[in-house]
Amino acid sequence: MTKPIHEQGACAGCGVRLQTADTDKPGFVPAAALEREPAICQRCFRIKNYNEASSVAVDQDDFLRLLGGIAATDSLVVHIVDIFDFEGSLISGLQRFVGSNPVLLVANKIDLLPKGINLNRLRNWVQKQAKAQGLRTVDIVLCSAKRGFGFEHVIEALGRHRGRRDVYVVGATNVGKSTLINKLIRDYSDLGRELTTSRYPGTTLDAVHIPLDDGNDIIDTPGIVYAHRMTEIVPRGVLQALLPDKPVKQLVYQLNDRQTLFIGALARIDFVEGARQSFTLYISNALSVHRTKLERADELYAEHRGEMLAPPSREQLADMPEWTRHRLTVKRGGDNDVFISGLGWVHVNGGEGALIDVFAPKGVRVLLRDALI
Ligand code: GDP
Repeated sequence: MTKPIHEQGACAGCGVRLQTADTDKPGFVPAAALEREPAICQRCFRIKNYNEASSVAVDQDDFLRLLGGIAATDSLVVHIVDIFDFEGSLISGLQRFVGSNPVLLVANKIDLLPKGINLNRLRNWVQKQAKAQGLRTVDIVLCSAKRGFGFEHVIEALGRHRGRRDVYVVGATNVGKSTLINKLIRDYSDLGRELTTSRYPGTTLDAVHIPLDDGNDIIDTPGIVYAHRMTEIVPRGVLQALLPDKPVKQLVYQLNDRQTLFIGALARIDFVEGARQSFTLYISNALSVHRTKLERADELYAEHRGEMLAPPSREQLADMPEWTRHRLTVKRGGDNDVFISGLGWVHVNGGEGALIDVFAPKGVRVLLRDALI
């Protein structure tokens, strides 16, 4: 049973309306802590007591209102994306909402890519893809907030592009925004100065300003929830398997046409038509892959979903949307990825061309893109 929302109290830290129902939404406070004087939301509590930023999430409408407010300010917008879920975590329409403010694109989690990857090539790829989505960037930085790679480039780019402007940090949920901000706080914040709050322009949400030791502030924004990412729609128990923690191993399958790969019971890839070729999977190492004949695939799924084909388990599958089919055509000589948002991608060379069907939970974004690697 969900607990009632306490509408009366406001957080003594940031002023947001307190609520006890949803840990991921702004203003959450555990019911037991509501009695504390002064009452303070969990997010402010963590920042004040542990110097630790934590994530709050908002839906697309609130988020776009918030971004619209940023357009009226003179700021640098730092957009963090997850390189492992690039098309899933890029905020489409960002350009329209930030107005003429410059955007610094930070591609995080590069530690998940196979070792020895060419970073210059990767940077060009990110730039090209962002441009194709209508996003102009003043700079692109690749980093791993968790492992600390490339962090000096983030700091250097902030210094170079900020001037005397405020910095708004924006991103979808789970891209590593809090991890990155926490690292900034640990290494570069001016802990002698008070954290201050202000209202996000044009919204009822409150922003925590984090003072950096150069006299400027950075402002964390709530993470946007995108329902088109598999990571947002799986039950919590599946998330751990889905989010890789170590560099992904490339899994190479030489497939003849009329063969099928199952990734747990999360997605199914049918090689419908084309000459024998390799399919290289970039997915979390915690997931298992089963190969079968296309003719056998329906039966195998009906018999083994939630057991041999897992995760999700049988019980977890009950909370997941049904699959829908996406038909993709790789052109002759094409060098493409079949991208499944939140799950990863499959690199296909195309050879003489390939017809591929992807089955994924309804709503999950599936597309064909230029190869990342
Ligand atoms: P937020 O929702 O954007 O604030 O994301 P968090 O900072 O809470 O991170 C979400 C998840 O991604 C956590 O499990 C982090 O440990 C993980 N994470 C964050 N940064 C990195 C990174 O650079 N590499 C890897 N592999 N994981 C990361």
